[in-house]
Amino acid sequence: MPLRLAFGRPSSFGAAPFLRRVEGTIPPEMATQSSWVVVGLDNGGNKNNATVLDPAKGSLVDGMIETPSRVTEGPQIAVEALVQAFDSILERTGVARARVRAVGLDTPGPASADGVISSMGSTNFAHEGWRGFDFRGALEARLRLPVVYNNDGNAAALYAHHLCFGAEAARHSSVSAIVGTGLGGGVIEAGRIVKGAAGMAGELGHVHIPMPGLLAEGQPIPRCNCGFDGDAESVASLTGIEKNLLPYWLKRYEGHELARAGSLAQAAKLVRSLGEKGDPMARRIFEQQAMAIGRLFTIAANFTDPSAYFVGGGVVETALEFREWFMGKVRENTILREEQTRAARFALVPDLDMAGARGAALAALEHATRL
Ligand SMILES: [Zn+2]
Repeated sequence: MPLRLAFGRPSSFGAAPFLRRVEGTIPPEMATQSSWVVVGLDNGGNKNNATVLDPAKGSLVDGMIETPSRVTEGPQIAVEALVQAFDSILERTGVARARVRAVGLDTPGPASADGVISSMGSTNFAHEGWRGFDFRGALEARLRLPVVYNNDGNAAALYAHHLCFGAEAARHSSVSAIVGTGLGGGVIEAGRIVKGAAGMAGELGHVHIPMPGLLAEGQPIPRCNCGFDGDAESVASLTGIEKNLLPYWLKRYEGHELARAGSLAQAAKLVRSLGEKGDPMARRIFEQQAMAIGRLFTIAANFTDPSAYFVGGGVVETALEFREWFMGKVRENTILREEQTRAARFALVPDLDMAGARGAALAALEHATRL
């Protein structure tokens, strides 16, 4: 039963159970085998979220099952915290450990394709012990089960893809742009994550986009934390709002209430709710973000010509009017050929909190069917 889910409608958000939806995402050849399951573990800065996926029944977990991730205490403690998350999700779902065939793990980046944390360190993995730590390998050794690693953007992209295309997933491709502190996401080709030679494919935030026509008069070229000028993340991210967009727009809207927010970081977090209420400056900022995503998607259209373009992040949680306005601007700025317009769809990625664990589980499922 292929899944047909309209992401753009409010009814597709929130309450609908995942179980029914995910059934459609499992190809029939996988669904006949029900003796084994896979577990998905989403490792975040504060919490781990866990899920169990049964090829015959779909997800066995409806909501978020969170436990502390303890990543700031270093890798040894964090691995044990994941083992605990693994044990407790099995207990909660009443699944015997012997039935688990593989485990999916996702974390924020940067990490290699095999889950070795960058030697440069990162926001979540600031503790010394994380530098160059083989997170995937350590969890695999501890659990004595195959562990499949993906970064959180790629896991979310895989989830969005399967949720949208269901049993048809392997016949489609998609690109996901997820706006958060940075701009994450991923590229899915024939139902599988494109990882690249070094595991760095799908770093959509650091793709350069054309700035003429996007920037307003006198607006400086935005800079990204990665060192690039004028990439997609320098505009379409919370960091981009704080560092690049707000400093310019606050000068254009003198006396704006956000000038009194205390700091640019605090002000940046308030832009979304003001945008929802129709504040003109906030709308200019979000329009620039939508243009950046549209220009990024235009590059994708000419690069991999995907069947779907997904947008995720805080904008998904906003009021219907704002969501539709934002997606309209993204579409308007994505230049497709006529044939592409007929073949492609645009949608918001729902249930983003769950996307990491569920995407990680789907990657483990794909791995497990090949065992
Ligand atoms: Zn960048």
